[in-house]
Amino acid sequence: MVRSFFLGFIKIHILHHAAKEQVYGLWLIEELERHGYGISPGTLYPILHSLEDDSLLQSQERVVDGKMRKYYRTTSKGKKTLRQAKEKVQELLNEIVKDQSR
Ligand SMILES: [Zn+2]
Repeated sequence: MVRSFFLGFIKIHILHHAAKEQVYGLWLIEELERHGYGISPGTLYPILHSLEDDSLLQSQERVVDGKMRKYYRTTSKGKKTLRQAKEKVQELLNEIVKDQSR
């Protein structure tokens, strides 16, 4: 896949899910795979870190089954960004679908 092209979609997915519930890396990899994005941990984790650096996500470490696991939630800034992204996706979709039916 053309990674940089789909990066924005992947980020929107992450913010969307982390806005609803706490998510962790492996869960996101499986969820994104379900949506047709084959993404490795080596690609996902830098994306999570950059979202965290931009204060769109915040993480919390918790011990689960004796292992440290990092959980992510969308911050209020992230939710605002997500709302703006949704508008842009909707606008783009309107344009593309409109063109298709011509
Ligand atoms: Zn999803």
